[in-house]
Amino acid sequence: MAGRNHLYIPGPTNVPTEVSNAMRVDMEDHRSPAFPELLKPLLQDLKKIFKTEQGQAFIFPATGTAGWEIALTNTLNPGDKVLIYRFGQFAHLWMDMANRLGFEVECHDVAWGKGIPLDALEVRLKEDNDHQIKAVLATHNETSTGVTSDIGGVRLAMNAANHPALLFVDGVSSIASLDFRMDDWGVDGAISGSQKGFMLPAGGAFLAFSQKAMAACNTNTYPRCFLDLKDHINTNKDGYTPYTPSTPILHGLRKSIDLLLEEGLENVFARHHRLAEGTRKAIAAWGLSLCAQPGFESNTVSAVVVPESKDARDVIATAYHKYNISLGGGLTEVAGKVFRIGHMGNMNDVSMLGAIAGVEMALLDNGFDITPGSGVAAAIEYYRATAS
Ligand SMILES: *Cc1c(COP(=O)(O)O)cnc(C)c1O
Repeated sequence: MAGRNHLYIPGPTNVPTEVSNAMRVDMEDHRSPAFPELLKPLLQDLKKIFKTEQGQAFIFPATGTAGWEIALTNTLNPGDKVLIYRFGQFAHLWMDMANRLGFEVECHDVAWGKGIPLDALEVRLKEDNDHQIKAVLATHNETSTGVTSDIGGVRLAMNAANHPALLFVDGVSSIASLDFRMDDWGVDGAISGSQKGFMLPAGGAFLAFSQKAMAACNTNTYPRCFLDLKDHINTNKDGYTPYTPSTPILHGLRKSIDLLLEEGLENVFARHHRLAEGTRKAIAAWGLSLCAQPGFESNTVSAVVVPESKDARDVIATAYHKYNISLGGGLTEVAGKVFRIGHMGNMNDVSMLGAIAGVEMALLDNGFDITPGSGVAAAIEYYRATAS
């Protein structure tokens, strides 16, 4: 098909040309005296994206999933209890990992479409008088349902209960796109990955740990090797890594962080909000609704619910085969019930309108009762009215 495939999935996201150019480098000696000049400032500047001065940033040649494992195995002991609220596929997978790694998991199910219930969390933590719960696992942005949870609120609930558990946050589809404040929110382990808000290919797990979490990694007894934080701490201090890093990812990350800081993080967040809001206006104009309940809407991904008589997979298939655009599918519990539009990373008004027009055509082709042009019209009015 002529033209390009238009990627509107919530990861991997579109890689800016500046970033792919920056990644096009000759292979280099990662033990050379020059290498620390690349790595050391990168780790420093990564902290700005996580908004931490107290914590320390890490880069693993891995993906977000490994980030979950790094947080758990480096700070907890076998059999330790962790608390998680499950309201989507990614929270489920993290819960499942904790189970499979031999931790005691206390999992509370929340309706898909909502986020972490702060009142229930506070009540539960207050009940836990002898502090059996060692870590709270919080999914900041649940990519399967397009739901954002209030992590500042999680910290307040933990403080209200005066509970010393570690707070680990999955920020894979939020960090670098949505407001994230590691220090302000007292996050002990923040987990992200390269292929979402950072606008890179998959292959980088980006993390930041608090001093409290790093102290735990010196005394805990969970066996680990490749994912051992201590090996990174020991080598990173001189600007090196414990094993071969993906140098193209590092060069790409350098450029991606430069772009984010140049735009300004607050502007990046505002851009994501605008793009998401225009998408939501289009969805409303089609008479469709979000999987996310009011107050939980994500600014990086919208999961759109289709009427019961329809299968969302047909919309995705039409969009792909007929119009060469990629949309996200519904995962497990919402398979066939939702399709997802990613508005994360290297996007602007017009690229978003491409997604909205493509979805609109696919909906019409599949017999959805919508007015042609309605979604596009709603979005363009919003984008025109709010463009700077
Ligand atoms: C994509 C994603 C992950 C998984 O990351 P991988 O890089 O695929 O391992 C985890 N959590 C959330 C919220 C995600 O969106």
